[in-house]
Amino acid sequence: MRCWIARRAPSVPASIERVSLSEFDLIDRYFRSCGASRADVRVGVGDDAAILECPAGAELVAAVDSLVDGVHFPHGSPPASIGHRALAVNLSDLAAMGARPAWALLALTLPAAEESWLAEFTAGFAALARAHDVALVGGDTTCGPLCVTVQVLGHVPRSSALLRSGGRAGDVVFVSGTPGDASAGLAIEQGRLPGAGEAAAYLRERFLYPAPRLALGECLRRHASACIDVSDGLLADAGKMARASGCGVEIAYEEVPVSQELARAVGAERARELALTGGDDYELCFSVRPPQVARLLSELPPERWGYTRIGMLREGPGADVVRDGAVMSFSHSGYDHFPTST
Ligand code: ADP
Ligand code: MG
Repeated sequence: MRCWIARRAPSVPASIERVSLSEFDLIDRYFRSCGASRADVRVGVGDDAAILECPAGAELVAAVDSLVDGVHFPHGSPPASIGHRALAVNLSDLAAMGARPAWALLALTLPAAEESWLAEFTAGFAALARAHDVALVGGDTTCGPLCVTVQVLGHVPRSSALLRSGGRAGDVVFVSGTPGDASAGLAIEQGRLPGAGEAAAYLRERFLYPAPRLALGECLRRHASACIDVSDGLLADAGKMARASGCGVEIAYEEVPVSQELARAVGAERARELALTGGDDYELCFSVRPPQVARLLSELPPERWGYTRIGMLREGPGADVVRDGAVMSFSHSGYDHFPTST
């Protein structure tokens, strides 16, 4: 894009905070060597487009997600967290497909080229990128209200990707990690959940720096019939996976895992409710055919891989939570204590 930074009105004095950089300097300083360096990047940041070598026999897997200031993260969030999350939410989509990420593109809309902000933002992005061997190969930088769009590209061996649609009634459903933590962390960030005590730091971290389950996703290609990443809440996303698979899902309330920290911060009941209906977890929800479950449990021991059996896919539409033999009614915002019969 044409350089917006150089177009800054000359009458505006450059403060220490807002150093005016040419677009070239900015790209050179912050984006040219951000993330992993990979041999399969023939042309990366600097030319009109990137040239990338795809492994023979692989299929390209692509995802893109935008994070808007005040919508997908609280205004004033730590820049390192914004950089981390912008990449993490995309890597989580690749994890859900069983794909291995390789490259990322970053479209950044910034109100100003503030160096300290950019340094922290790219540090957050780069640390996660390096951890998963992802190279930043291009992007765009424009001026406007803060918005971060990341595209990730990765691959899977041909025809081996996990889909939402591969499940069928009877498949056993699992979830990784402890959902609900991130939504409590967000509430703490926003001052809506005071008094979380010692658990607060852990819960905030879970919102600010989610860990995409890439290693698990790749291993699940050998085991899972369907998979989805949990971004909108476990119940909603399990429901989406079930629907794509042409069936429904039943989740056992008592089986839904919750972290000790979440239970301590909000109590056991509210913790399960958040685990089912919170969001921003970036865990994996997946289904496994009953005869494959024993192999899953022995090859990927749950205590090492951190996942829990929570229910099963079943005939008929819908996503139910069952407690003591009765179906509970949840709305997106939480448990509905006065369900209307359907
Ligand atoms: P063009 O005008 O051809 O779109 P730009 O001047 O916008 O090119 O960008 C120059 C180079 O810098 C390109 O290789 C582009 O991919 C890269 N780039 C620009 N902004 C970013 C960014 N935010 N992150 C990574 N690479 C970027
Ligand atoms: Mg160009």
